[in-house]
Amino acid sequence: MSAPLSPSGVVGLAGRVPAVDSDPVRSGALVLAGAPLPLTGALHLYTCGITPYDVTHLGHAATFVWADALAAVAREAGVTPVVCRNVTDVDDVLTDAATGRGWPYDEFALTQEFLFDRDMAALRVAAPTHAPHARAHVRHVVQLAAALLRAGAAYEREGHVFFRGAPAVAGSGVGESEAARLAEEFGDRADDGRDDPCDVPVWRPSAEDQPAWPSPWGWGRPGWHAECAAMAWSVCGASVDVLAGGADLAFPHHAYQAAMVEAASGVAPFARRQVHWGEVRLDGAKMAKSTGNLVLVADLLAEHRPAAVRLLLLDRPWAEPWDYRAEDLQAAERRLDELYAAAGRPGAGRPDAGPVLDRLLHDLDVPGAVAVALDQGGASARALLRVLKLDA
Ligand code: ZN
Repeated sequence: MSAPLSPSGVVGLAGRVPAVDSDPVRSGALVLAGAPLPLTGALHLYTCGITPYDVTHLGHAATFVWADALAAVAREAGVTPVVCRNVTDVDDVLTDAATGRGWPYDEFALTQEFLFDRDMAALRVAAPTHAPHARAHVRHVVQLAAALLRAGAAYEREGHVFFRGAPAVAGSGVGESEAARLAEEFGDRADDGRDDPCDVPVWRPSAEDQPAWPSPWGWGRPGWHAECAAMAWSVCGASVDVLAGGADLAFPHHAYQAAMVEAASGVAPFARRQVHWGEVRLDGAKMAKSTGNLVLVADLLAEHRPAAVRLLLLDRPWAEPWDYRAEDLQAAERRLDELYAAAGRPGAGRPDAGPVLDRLLHDLDVPGAVAVALDQGGASARALLRVLKLDA
């Protein structure tokens, strides 16, 4: 029997509508960072992207592979991941690196971004839905600065616009002296006329050899936290489901980014959940370009399967810091072969992805999901390999 025609002439479905989703309640089952994060329709994820001035190391890879896994788990639970991963292509570190090599900063950034994208593709990280570049959002930073001034949350000083940061610092749980130390670690020096060391620049004047844009406060460039605040707000709206990044971004970067959007938009919280992936260390010290304490993704991929590198990054509690050791990557190679063998068995558990997906939805418990996959084999193991993109 054909569907009845509605009075408007559009074919409608009267009565019972066929199911399109075998388990529609699953999207409500996500637990993230220790608390439920129910979703309908979409997961809006803002993940803080790179400053493109150097090669991709294992710390970057961990950040973006985990964000990719979160998006994949959301998709598996029946919601569409909408991933916004920015590129911070206006940054003094980038300008200095480009100048040192005799390149225009924008051209240098594009080259580095290409290499980063190549590493991400090799690690099977899906391209983000949105990839805003700071350079294309400078006018949104000017709009943000104007909104903050109007809200009384910022003030102008000699070509700067400073955001009043004391409430953000107080709300972060980081003490004032620790806040100052962390801010300085990221190159923010409080000797430029700001009222309070907790305040941060939304806009700042540029020297002759620095990138500069016109603004009501003179030629200048955005502050770092303001760049991400403006990119996130203009692309995702005034609130996101998840704000994610490496552990070192929790403070000051994400604390100020969220506080700026909240103060200017009146919508709070900016992020329903903040997620900070555990720091990757080498010989006990943070992996960082600035210290040269690095393991490069390209070097690992020259000798190992991408799936093994992904498994090394994911098969652990996501919030805990960890040390990279070559023997652990060898162990991940062996574990991967065990999973392939398990996937080839007939399987002992339910003939679907349920038990594995339940573990993943419970705070991205990959070690738990791997244990279920190895124990049950068959469909469980195949589901784990598919969702986490560990296929051969
Ligand atoms: Zn950011």
